[in-house]
Amino acid sequence: MCGVFGIWEHPEAAKLTYLGLHALQHRGQESAGIVAASAENKTRFDRHIGLGLVADIFSEPVLKQLSGRRSIGHVRYSTAGGSGIQNAQPFTVEAQRGPLAIGHNGNLVNYEDLRSDLERQGAIFTTRSDTEILLHLLARARAPRIEDRVRDALAQVEGAYTLVLMHQDGIIGVRDPSGYRPLVLGKLGDSYVLASETCALDLIEATLVREIEPGEMVSITAKGLHSERLVHDPDAKRRACVFELVYFARPNSQIFDRSVHEARFALGQVLAKEAPADADLVIPVPDSGVPASLGYADLSGLPFRYGLIRSHYVGRTFIEPEQAIRHFGVKLKLSAVRSVLEGKRVVVVDDSIVRGTTSRKIVAMLRSAGAAEVHLRISSPPTTFPCFYGIDTPTREELIAARLDLKGTCDFIGADSLAYVSVAGLHQAVKDTHPKGFCDACFTGEYDTGVDTIRKKMLKVVA
Ligand code: AMP
Repeated sequence: MCGVFGIWEHPEAAKLTYLGLHALQHRGQESAGIVAASAENKTRFDRHIGLGLVADIFSEPVLKQLSGRRSIGHVRYSTAGGSGIQNAQPFTVEAQRGPLAIGHNGNLVNYEDLRSDLERQGAIFTTRSDTEILLHLLARARAPRIEDRVRDALAQVEGAYTLVLMHQDGIIGVRDPSGYRPLVLGKLGDSYVLASETCALDLIEATLVREIEPGEMVSITAKGLHSERLVHDPDAKRRACVFELVYFARPNSQIFDRSVHEARFALGQVLAKEAPADADLVIPVPDSGVPASLGYADLSGLPFRYGLIRSHYVGRTFIEPEQAIRHFGVKLKLSAVRSVLEGKRVVVVDDSIVRGTTSRKIVAMLRSAGAAEVHLRISSPPTTFPCFYGIDTPTREELIAARLDLKGTCDFIGADSLAYVSVAGLHQAVKDTHPKGFCDACFTGEYDTGVDTIRKKMLKVVA
């Protein structure tokens, strides 16, 4: 769960990176960073990183110091390595052949094995982040061309990686051979832009050129754009993360050549078809449940109403009352609208249930605001397995759907009924084509990359 951005040869490179990161803020709120360089002094990389939100980290004076016409940036949500400032990206190093900067989205499955191998060979690490491994592998690669060094380094890693790299003569964008995480290519005038999602291109008024293909590396230099394949895994199957479409990406983005909003709307329609409810209203859990609720209302013919309002001013820290005020955490974020709910049988649509604690609080809140019946509908299948490819999910034991059956989950949550989209319905809604083009491991346990390492990890957790 991170976002990456890069721009090559633009007079306001760092400012545009700042805006791009702002548009990608939903992909990570723990830290952000920008690295910038100029053609005149291409061995000097200026970097600024910070904890928190993009708008709080970068001020006008800070951005002025990040001068130069080339820049990459990163927003981070830690899924590996903890949330301290030392893990904020992009990372920069002085390698033998010049400076390197890297921003990474995804998780490397064989991180621990690679790290202990490197440590045995004398490597010293300053972070717990799996991205630092990539820098070590890059620094050790011997090929004269940077693209070949990137390919050689990546041949050793298993897992999910969308990368933006900057070296002294260009920027590089890479998607792993399965294409777990998104990456798009855009153009702003003559400048090339790389971004996790198209919403970043829209904000800076760049046009979408195309999606970077799974297993593709694009190298952008003074000579223009050059594309090549990471040939090390010719058998890799395309496995875009379906949860990006379910929850993670922004609805106004287009990723994996699909509109995120359309995919969510279609999920709501499939849900209404598979799990109708005898009810008076459809209400969304804002914001994540809104597009699917619209789809549910569309197909079911039930009226759509805002029965829950979301506050957009919930800070990171707040003072909890010592005397128990029940459901306090959720109350800060969501408020029920009594006039909509009173005496009504409502269908509540949300995108997913992870631990079940949020849904339980929402159902209690709706009942106390007068809802006569609460039918919970979830626009994805039950989350029963953890993700090893970059989505933050707890261990299997903490996933409510892995512990309890449908009735047990419904009882815990306190709803009158509960239903999820089926796995087949999910693939239908995202217009998956045969053979399977999406990773659905969090719903099925069918991992396709680093399977042996994942098996070992899961056994270790159970032991
Ligand atoms: P819970 O069941 O209480 O653990 O939380 C479920 C809620 O968290 C759902 O409303 C989702 O919108 C949201 N959610 C799902 N996956 C994630 C994730 N990986 N990180 C943060 N929030 C998530």
